[in-house]
Amino acid sequence: MGEHERWMQEALAEARKALEKGEVPVGAVVVHGDRVIGRGHNLVETILDPTAHAEMLAITSAAATLADWRLEDCSLYVTLEPCPMCAGAIILSRLKRVIYGASDPRWGAGGSAFQVLGVNSPDVRVEVVAGVCGEEASALLRTFFEKLRAERRTRDDACGASSDNQVERCPSG
Ligand SMILES: [Zn+2]
Repeated sequence: MGEHERWMQEALAEARKALEKGEVPVGAVVVHGDRVIGRGHNLVETILDPTAHAEMLAITSAAATLADWRLEDCSLYVTLEPCPMCAGAIILSRLKRVIYGASDPRWGAGGSAFQVLGVNSPDVRVEVVAGVCGEEASALLRTFFEKLRAERRTRDDACGASSDNQVERCPSG
């Protein structure tokens, strides 16, 4: 297993924690030298915070570990291509490198939907490596969304509803 794959396994472990909490399974770690200095997994639903993405939490925790907001010699490993918000945070935290797993055609800011990372600017020099353990990261996401759809169908049947609109009116607890 290469170095990128080894650290990505740590990010995947974080993603599995998110899955256990019923969150979209995305995980991230920040690596400095030979150690993990920050970890995070998606907590948007748990703490009702739209900014609680894995990358944001991992960056905040890494900065606390170093007691420095500049993560200049650090790499961020994340299971899913970062969104524009996280790409902005990656740039502002001066991370040297971002390595991600699965591509995100809907929100990805590494070029899939937006181009925030990898822009040609003298101030933005973050190196991007895509597709590390991408299949494993995608499989986790598929598991989550298939389970979600199955749950919706069950609720749908229980409420005698047939359309998605009606599902919204069903008791969700
Ligand atoms: Zn994000």
